[in-house]
Amino acid sequence: MHDVEIAVIGGGAAGISAARTLADAGRSVLLIEGSDRLGGRAHTVSVGGLPLDLGAGWLHSAQHNPWVAIAEASGFTVDRTLPRWREQWRELGFSRADQQAARQAFEDFDQRLRTVETDCAADALIPGGEWNPYLEALSGFINSAGWPSVSVADYLAYMDAATDTDWRVEQGYGAMIAAHAARLPVAFSTPVTAIDRSGTRLRLDTPRGTIAAEAAIVTISTNVLSSGAITLPGHDAILHAASQLPLGLADKLFLALDDADEIPANAHLLGNPRAAKTGSYTLRPFGRPVIEVMYGGEGAAEMERRGLDGAAAFAIDELTTLMGSAWRGKLRLLAGSCWGRTDHILGGYSHALPGHTGARKTLTIPIDERIRFAGEACSETEFSTAHGARKTGVAAAQALL
Ligand SMILES: Cc1cc2nc3c(=O)[nH]c(=O)nc-3n(C[C@H](O)[C@H](O)[C@H](O)COP(=O)(O)OP(=O)(O)OC[C@H]3O[C@@H](n4cnc5c(N)ncnc54)[C@H](O)[C@@H]3O)c2cc1C
Repeated sequence: MHDVEIAVIGGGAAGISAARTLADAGRSVLLIEGSDRLGGRAHTVSVGGLPLDLGAGWLHSAQHNPWVAIAEASGFTVDRTLPRWREQWRELGFSRADQQAARQAFEDFDQRLRTVETDCAADALIPGGEWNPYLEALSGFINSAGWPSVSVADYLAYMDAATDTDWRVEQGYGAMIAAHAARLPVAFSTPVTAIDRSGTRLRLDTPRGTIAAEAAIVTISTNVLSSGAITLPGHDAILHAASQLPLGLADKLFLALDDADEIPANAHLLGNPRAAKTGSYTLRPFGRPVIEVMYGGEGAAEMERRGLDGAAAFAIDELTTLMGSAWRGKLRLLAGSCWGRTDHILGGYSHALPGHTGARKTLTIPIDERIRFAGEACSETEFSTAHGARKTGVAAAQALL
């Protein structure tokens, strides 16, 4: 039997941060990862020499984001160009007046969220409201789920803590997070299936044998936790909390773009401002010859049903409707994600169901002092992000230290 001092289960942003904190404090640690790579939902793939982020891409709330300093200290380049999500390139399919009306509808919705009597965000929508599909699309991007399944208190806790400054890592956010695990001992392709806490040492079952540990930090996603992937005796309250913080769906797609010099770097298009199922398109990110597509909520669910080729066809239809049919032959699929069907991940990012924002706190209250939980869903104000995940990993490590 393998014996370690502290086992960190899951090699995403939270697990890597926890293991790094413990190793820096001189503790012996093993990072146990179910898949064959590090980074989890922060995943940079290299296609034709281009680093493409299939998961986390933006250093959200950049002023409070600890990954900014880590990136720069480890030789990665932080690009401080701000996103242009609020702009529509050449007003294609979204006139200035409609953009203003849609934005106003979002601001009014935000105000109603602050006075609505229930904790269900959909109750702040105006029934039949002209911009409801637009608001639903935004919920998909922000929450990876629709307003009916989003807690008002949870959503506002995030929004009120976040800043509007979003930066990027030129070589990839996922690559940078994975690099932060350099020289940490890692057991790859070793999914933990049970934690037995009946003895003086914890016993972690894996298909590669049992690992004994003094303590463990569990950082797997809430959907994986509530799927029963790990048997955790006595942890019903934690498993119940995880089920109240499900991951929705969010996915990325990258299209190669030929002959596009006329398009400015980082221009933005919303596919259809009057549809809930639509893509958000960043044209030529970093000036590269690609289009980065983001789908969330209902839109991501539809794309996962269609598969990558079907999702690319949908994206190309939306883009050519806006930009003209001459672009059809200049666009082709490069890469994409399907996080809902990715083993050991099973979704986008967590949102609290109405009435359940308290579940985030419950996840962090240990039932056995030797077992701590971390991961984006454990953050009460920075959930759904890679920096929120990092902070929970560091906090769990410090609690054990
Ligand atoms: C499309 C998309 C876009 C996003 N964009 C952004 C963004 O721009 N900015 C941002 O900050 N965030 C973004 N996010 C969210 C961000 O990626 C996540 O919040 C963050 O990466 C989660 O990190 P984590 O460590 O909590 O979980 P994970 O990344 O899920 O890590 C958990 C790890 O545990 C492993 N694991 C699971 N089960 C087991 C097991 N039984 N045994 C061992 N290992 C196991 C998994 O393989 C995984 O590596 C995005 C997410 C998606 C899907």
